[in-house]
Amino acid sequence: MSNSTIDSKNPLELANEGASSSKILFFQEGLLKWFEKNRRSFLWRETHNPWYILLAEVLLQKTNARKVENIYAEFINLYPTPAKLLNAGPELQELLKPLGLWAAKSKILRSLAKSIVENFNGLVPDSFDNLISLPGVGSYIASAVLSFAYEKRTPIVDTNVIRILERYFGVCSTKNNNKERDQQIWRFVEVLLPESNCVKRFNLALVDFGALVCTHYHPHCDTCCIAPYCKYYSRERPFEIPPPDAALAPLE
Ligand code: SF4
Repeated sequence: MSNSTIDSKNPLELANEGASSSKILFFQEGLLKWFEKNRRSFLWRETHNPWYILLAEVLLQKTNARKVENIYAEFINLYPTPAKLLNAGPELQELLKPLGLWAAKSKILRSLAKSIVENFNGLVPDSFDNLISLPGVGSYIASAVLSFAYEKRTPIVDTNVIRILERYFGVCSTKNNNKERDQQIWRFVEVLLPESNCVKRFNLALVDFGALVCTHYHPHCDTCCIAPYCKYYSRERPFEIPPPDAALAPLE
């Protein structure tokens, strides 16, 4: 499935146009309501401990979430603090093997723990600049920790989020080779953030919606709660779009 039929717009153009406030509201409410009934449950979502959440995000890089789930409880039990991980023995690599890329992950995790112990007194920092200075931490992980652990009003952007935005809003990144670092996309997602007390839920909803509904291949458009306003859907099924009144009706 390709997005080539979408009339794409620069994210800032769309943000400046307000991307139509009703379209944004429909997107926010649709995702939050969908999330209430369909959220995925993971151990790392049951904690506010920044170290546990940072560990989960690093482990999840280029790895299936279910694989991480299989080792996560043992992992945080063995390494409940950066200092414990810094002193990890050879069992660390054994534990990481089912995730793949275990040698690289082991190296990154040790460097990460060392940096937190040496530069931040063993505590996970709570600012974007400090987080992104840590080994293995990029914009997405830094923002995920700020949002999921510290509950700061921070957007999160990864390939899944970008795919949803491209399809629903017709957003086009100006950086073909590294969309995830496109500052315009980040600023556009900031515009989409709902009220402060919903930001963490909204970010988690985006993650789960990209994994379960607006998937890379074969998105589930026919059962999608935000289809009435989705640009991709309207291009693919021009005769199936509900009339405007139906599109604005409250979501069930
Ligand atoms: S209608 Fe389809 S393409 Fe649009 S947001 Fe829903 S699943 Fe994604």
